[in-house]
Amino acid sequence: MTASELTGPGAPTPGLAGRGPVPWHLLPDSSAVEPDGSLSIGGCHLDDLAAEFGTPLFVYDEEHLRSRAREAVAAFGDGVAYASKAFLCSAMARLVHEEGMCIDVATGGEMHVALSAGVPADRLVLHGNNKSTAELEMALSAGVGRIVVDSFDEIDRIEALVAAGQPAPQVLLRVTPGIEAHTHEYVQTGQDDSKFGFGLSSGAAHAALDRVAGSDAFDLLGIHVHIGSQVFVVDSFRKAVAPLAPTVNALALPEFSIGGGLGVAYVEGEESATISQWGAVMTTACREAGIEAHVTAEPGRSIAAAAAVTVYSVGTIKDLPGIRTYVSVDGGM
Ligand SMILES: *Cc1c(COP(=O)(O)O)cnc(C)c1O
Repeated sequence: MTASELTGPGAPTPGLAGRGPVPWHLLPDSSAVEPDGSLSIGGCHLDDLAAEFGTPLFVYDEEHLRSRAREAVAAFGDGVAYASKAFLCSAMARLVHEEGMCIDVATGGEMHVALSAGVPADRLVLHGNNKSTAELEMALSAGVGRIVVDSFDEIDRIEALVAAGQPAPQVLLRVTPGIEAHTHEYVQTGQDDSKFGFGLSSGAAHAALDRVAGSDAFDLLGIHVHIGSQVFVVDSFRKAVAPLAPTVNALALPEFSIGGGLGVAYVEGEESATISQWGAVMTTACREAGIEAHVTAEPGRSIAAAAAVTVYSVGTIKDLPGIRTYVSVDGGM
């Protein structure tokens, strides 16, 4: 595979990052420039890693991952879950588990990775707007800690499985509060028109709550809301809380999960809140809205994104005199 720098006429103007050094805050915590000018992460020279493992190569900073996981546990307490779609392999599942996080999984495959890495089933949270009967059956027989119920179809499927002898799961109900987070529309998930969860304004959320609370097939623990990803405006999270407070309080449910979505800076000029700041804003907003439930969250990107770099090798270099020089690498764009 080859890819070239796309900076011809009409292409987007390159950011400053394209011309100067990458700012330190965009790199993994342990990044350092060695005396010979090469970049190291966690004390490993990237040149050496490229020679040993080949390129393209993802390099994760373990200490960076651990410190963000610890920060999340400190901010939200026990039950805070790592949203594994941000990056999952067996080692990552073990790492976040060792640091005290639960793990969000959204498919049978992710569940399998976490379980086979040795993470106890009761530390898993199963998500998804289209959980199959087989995935639900796998979760129930493994004994996952929480299932986040997303639709009436899913309520029917779980009831049928419990009627057939599976244990009744502990569940949260995913509710869409009808607010639009400040982020790209493709990763907004809190508005009324969403494939996720039960709408608050349509009455679906209350109908689902009545059904689940009144059924022996569920142990209802709380409400879940996830408004989207790459949300830089912490106020968007705060806005999601107020409309849900009466519902969360009416049933005196013990848990309230605010999902994930804290934005991460990828390029120069972007600034993001820390997990601790996000936690403080959310806990305060929930208290101010009168929510008594334990407030928890599911950070993904904010744990994993800035912990990694991708290492490429430069291949073909094509100099177009008077126009520009194309430098091709072995991955990405
Ligand atoms: C994607 C997702 C998250 C994590 O979002 P990030 O932007 O990675 O923090 C958390 N919860 C749910 C339900 C998600 O779909």
